[in-house]
Amino acid sequence: MRYFSTRGAAEAAGFAAAALAGLAPDGGLFVPEEIPPYPAAVRSSLGTMDYRDIAFETIKPWVSPDIPEAALEEMVRAAYPFEAPLVGAGDRQVLELFHGPTAAFKDFGARFRARAFSYLRRGEDKALRIIVATSGDTGGAVADGFFGVEGISVTVLYPRGRVSPLQERQIAGLGGNVSALAVEGSFDDCQRMVKAALADAGLKKRLRLSSANSINVSRLIPQAAYYAAAAGRALEGRIDPDGEASPRSYPRRGAAPGTGGAGHRVRKGEAITLAVPSGNFGNLTAGIYAWKMGAPVRRFVAATNINKTIPDYLESGDYRARPSLATISNAMDVGAPSNFERMAAHLSWAEMKEHILGVSVTDDETRAAIRAVRDSAGYVLDPHSGVGWAAADKLLERGLVSGPLGILSTAHPAKFAETVEPLAGPVPVPPSLAKAMERSPRSRVIPAEIPALADILYSAESD
Ligand SMILES: *Cc1c(COP(=O)(O)O)cnc(C)c1O
Repeated sequence: MRYFSTRGAAEAAGFAAAALAGLAPDGGLFVPEEIPPYPAAVRSSLGTMDYRDIAFETIKPWVSPDIPEAALEEMVRAAYPFEAPLVGAGDRQVLELFHGPTAAFKDFGARFRARAFSYLRRGEDKALRIIVATSGDTGGAVADGFFGVEGISVTVLYPRGRVSPLQERQIAGLGGNVSALAVEGSFDDCQRMVKAALADAGLKKRLRLSSANSINVSRLIPQAAYYAAAAGRALEGRIDPDGEASPRSYPRRGAAPGTGGAGHRVRKGEAITLAVPSGNFGNLTAGIYAWKMGAPVRRFVAATNINKTIPDYLESGDYRARPSLATISNAMDVGAPSNFERMAAHLSWAEMKEHILGVSVTDDETRAAIRAVRDSAGYVLDPHSGVGWAAADKLLERGLVSGPLGILSTAHPAKFAETVEPLAGPVPVPPSLAKAMERSPRSRVIPAEIPALADILYSAESD
């Protein structure tokens, strides 16, 4: 597969070059020359295939020929010892993406990417430094994915005081080849600093740098697999038994609010609409890739908190980035979503409007959804998934969606216990999170200035 820059000025790159560089030399994002369709035999068996086989079939054409099939096969088996179950909750489905080690969907991208990088860098002696900006969850998943991986070190930038105590421990509690920088600014500042470092010619000359944000194409591709798996099962009318760590700790009390009964449960032969809680829009972009490959998704819902740059764009056709606002779904506090550039490279505004419904949700609406779903369906949502649920509610009220409906659950509610528990009562902590809570975070505080980051990267090099 060949990749081109969204800005058009850079030459085409293969998967290895695109993944290792992160950003194209002209500052754009790498997008594929074409989106490879699933072979018909794969497409028709998405509903029954094992998750790892779907991941293999999804990723294969995107990494060919740089990662041979045998190596890819091994990578997906090692990366995904857990599932992405589509479970029933109230009148609809939840796609649980929190069964990995950091209990958020970013594990899907991070775990594949760590293994891909390690493979692509085999035999090289100059260490690779991954720099990543996080609003909360990416940092933990990247740190966990790369922790202890030889020849690679990781620097995570996060907005000081704007991540949860658990997220901070996941980012800054590992040590070893992972270092953490608490930036005195917002996530957008962190992201700006990372982009500047990756584009800095002086730094590039001396260091081998790469990104790990959703701007890196190697993180997006593996995420397409869970869309294909979920859409395939939904079309078969199948859902999964509750996953081991499902936050279904309460007796059910009737159907969820909104539309009554099981109105939006899966039915054989009907494609599902998927609501995607979104911030930087990497997840939704992966969904678009899966759909373009042939996964039977009916439509997407771009669900945001009050950082509604994309819902506003879908409404008006006018893209206006803005400063981010703090909310209870902090991993989605993004005012300038970097993957918009990628979405726009594949779809016109009219096409986006046709396939993506944009909805923004306030913190109060999110809290109300968490409480209502817990009371009526006995299911506990985290604040990000709560945004997805509340967004779907708004569309249902306006009659804008029909048929089977799934909400992507991007994190386990125990990650955001301080927000969720007052609304839904005690949330059991999965073992992976209990382990992380025991670590003590060690990070360095830095101002939101590019030279401060450059200094640290230089000094890390000479260590
Ligand atoms: C990162 C994150 C999101 C947003 O995903 P994007 O790909 O940035 O749109 C949503 N929920 C949680 C829990 C996250 O960690």
